[in-house]
Amino acid sequence: MPRVATGCTLTVGLHSDTDGQRMKEALRQVAVVGGSAAGFFTACLLARGGRPVRVLERSEQLDPTPRTLIVTSRMRDLLGSAGEGSVVNEIRRFELFTDGRAARVALARPDLIIERARLIQGLAAQAQQAGAQVELGRRFVSLESRDDGLLLTVERSRDGAEQQVPAETVVGADGALSRVAQSAGWPRQETVPLIQAIVRLPADASPETVRVWFVPEDTPYFYWLIPESPTHGALGLIGEDGQETRRCLERFLEKRGFAPLSFQGARIPVYTGWIPVERRVGTGRVYLVGDAAGQVKVTTVGGIVTGFRGARGVAEAILSGGHSRELRALRRELDLHLLIRKTLHHFQQTDYSRLVDLLNASTRRSLSVYTRDEAARVLWHVCLRQPRLLLLGLRGLLARGSFSRR
Ligand SMILES: Cc1cc2nc3c(=O)[nH]c(=O)nc-3n(C[C@H](O)[C@H](O)[C@H](O)COP(=O)(O)OP(=O)(O)OC[C@H]3O[C@@H](n4cnc5c(N)ncnc54)[C@H](O)[C@@H]3O)c2cc1C
Repeated sequence: MPRVATGCTLTVGLHSDTDGQRMKEALRQVAVVGGSAAGFFTACLLARGGRPVRVLERSEQLDPTPRTLIVTSRMRDLLGSAGEGSVVNEIRRFELFTDGRAARVALARPDLIIERARLIQGLAAQAQQAGAQVELGRRFVSLESRDDGLLLTVERSRDGAEQQVPAETVVGADGALSRVAQSAGWPRQETVPLIQAIVRLPADASPETVRVWFVPEDTPYFYWLIPESPTHGALGLIGEDGQETRRCLERFLEKRGFAPLSFQGARIPVYTGWIPVERRVGTGRVYLVGDAAGQVKVTTVGGIVTGFRGARGVAEAILSGGHSRELRALRRELDLHLLIRKTLHHFQQTDYSRLVDLLNASTRRSLSVYTRDEAARVLWHVCLRQPRLLLLGLRGLLARGSFSRR
């Protein structure tokens, strides 16, 4: 468990040169609200770049709710060793099922199964080593603009006392229902429910294979079974209505003879278009990263890798005082996932059957080499190898319109 400073508010009254220095530091300070994946990674990058950073996290302990997650190998490229302690399994192939049909895709670089609590603890330790100050039990309440920056009001969970925290820049990394976003005037995001059950793997399942089922009468997304160990896995789905999604999962588990050992779930933002990540509030600046900025691939509703890319982009923008190439690239990536989601979202059973039938050997090779964090390459190569998939996608896109409920 990383060492965590209990932290105290910086005093604002000036009495000496040292106080003056401290005040100057406070004015350059970045306050990151939310100590989770995107927040700690942003804090680490900013601290390494020489900025004074404090992370304000509402939970009193750094023991996040466990969640089994799947990410591409891109996480390793982005995080280096900080993410390694969270890897619990590696995936070498996908099996896709629909209406009695099946297709297999082998992965050239394995996907990683990670345990979220371990990931966050590893990132917290790395951020602290880089010099970030982590303060737990601090719930962000509001922010206001002053002549020389921003003033945050934070509630201390130990005794309910309110603290004032001065900062030049605030990064909202506080998740899908971001209070920072709300305080700085961003509109509320659309979200979808994601729920998964931890189950025993069936006798015929390999711990290196993820299974995916397309069942359009239950969900416009899909069901998955992700092995987290040789014996257990997470079986879940993304839906549109919370209660109905839970009912679908229970039916699916019962029909296939799975007994749920525990459930994991939350609402995830749906990317319906790029959310500009920066706003000026008076003389200060506010940024959003991760789920708070809707940086989630809307094809699979995966937000870990894209949240890290958002963190990298925002750190780049803050440190350089300008634009970030990473953010531009991330926007292109998320927009392509939106295009794919729009083509798939109203697929009927016949469309999925055709999709699986059209996955010929060379298409599967492209899917094996390029990950879902490289949407442009996947699309280009798949369409080149199997142009009829392009036609199928176009039909989906044109015939039924948008997927967003807005
Ligand atoms: C069951 C489940 C399975 C998933 N599976 C996958 C997967 O396989 N692959 C994948 O890529 N993604 C997956 N996701 C999505 C992924 O988990 C999220 O996109 C990602 O964790 C978001 O990270 P984040 O740091 O942006 O936000 P969060 O993890 O939501 O962190 C927000 C932090 O802010 C804190 N906070 C909130 N409000 C305040 C406040 N007012 N003051 C101070 N602190 C505050 C919270 O306590 C929390 O620590 C899954 C999600 C769920 C729920």
